[in-house]
Amino acid sequence: MSGGFTNAGQVEPPIVADIAVELAKLKAKQRFRSIPATGERSGRFVTVGGRKLLNLSSNDYLGLGADRELFSSFIAQIRDDRFDDGRFAMTSSSSRLLTGHHPVCDQLESAIAAAYGSETALVFNSGYHANTGILPALATRHDLILSDRLNHASIIDGLRIADADYRRFRHADYDHLEEQLETAARECYRQIFIVTESVFSMDGDLADLRRLVKLKRRFKAVLIVDEAHGAGVFGERGLGLCEALGVTNEIDIIVGTFGKSLASAGAYAVMRGLFREYLVNTMRTLIFTTALPPMTLAWSLATFTKQLTMQRERDHLLGLAATLRGSLREAGFDVPGESHIVPVVLGEDRTAVEMAGALREAGFHALPVRPPTVPENSSRLRFSLRADLTSGDIAALAETMKRGAA
Ligand code: PMP
Repeated sequence: MSGGFTNAGQVEPPIVADIAVELAKLKAKQRFRSIPATGERSGRFVTVGGRKLLNLSSNDYLGLGADRELFSSFIAQIRDDRFDDGRFAMTSSSSRLLTGHHPVCDQLESAIAAAYGSETALVFNSGYHANTGILPALATRHDLILSDRLNHASIIDGLRIADADYRRFRHADYDHLEEQLETAARECYRQIFIVTESVFSMDGDLADLRRLVKLKRRFKAVLIVDEAHGAGVFGERGLGLCEALGVTNEIDIIVGTFGKSLASAGAYAVMRGLFREYLVNTMRTLIFTTALPPMTLAWSLATFTKQLTMQRERDHLLGLAATLRGSLREAGFDVPGESHIVPVVLGEDRTAVEMAGALREAGFHALPVRPPTVPENSSRLRFSLRADLTSGDIAALAETMKRGAA
């Protein structure tokens, strides 16, 4: 393989040649990925390859990451730094179980727990840490985890790490889940866990949380809901689909992430106090990692507090999504789902790549999503909408799609 990086004089380990072959295969299948060279961001625009494009691929659903006012008032607080208590430190320097904890994290967890009306909240370094840590900490070899087939990779990795047995039910097929629960009830597991996303990231569709609550009650299961894409968008105060459907108090563990609508980094879960205590004692991705910097937690507190009041933005965003779905479906596109994530399933990889290219020419940045992220022959474009888009943006996008398909 050619390339600038050489380890002259090193004996080449056998894996190097194997990797070169694997990469060549990916290239031949047009599945080779590189990190897109996105540049400057300004509001709803992103600069890619020197061109300013409308960003339809970010998870900043409320546009909060581009909120200059919030940012400026945060920066002003830092300048002031009347707190003088390390709350704006850029490092925590150790795990929360050593000296990495800062009172700003207590404030954040209290604010989250109070908003949800939950006994407690616990903050993690990322959604990935949360999902790869919670199930392995709680579920033992005497337990069974039932997981929606389309759950995010971080949940799948959590299943793999956990000592428990796991089975996957067909996506959003709760009859199938019910069958699995009936079978499991005869198998004498100590505890059954059900895990689902609320808003599925690739299809933009919604879990039937009310049905899941009924099932979890009947089978005394622990229900874990990942609101990574629901928090900030659904519910009166943006607490997620659980809030919108009035089932928040029925869910054992709700996971939310800060890296999307909440315009920061990290994740949280709300749960009963007993679970929190147990996780603090057993969850490896909490214990064995350096805590988030206090600065990040302070910013998360600012964004979480702000988003509670952003009902107008939520309504606008969901309105835009409904309009876009309507016009694309009318034009004959296959557009699943019913949220602010609007996928357009095009089938072949090449079609999705070409359509993304046509959109780029017209000033839109939307990335094609291909296998293995989605099933074979379901390559798609995925528009993740944001509340600072205008109806004019959406009309222009729909027009461009129609022209591209003609
Ligand atoms: N859960 C879901 C459903 C996600 O989509 C993601 C991120 N794409 C995560 C968890 C991981 O969250 P984070 O980016 O904070 O690691």
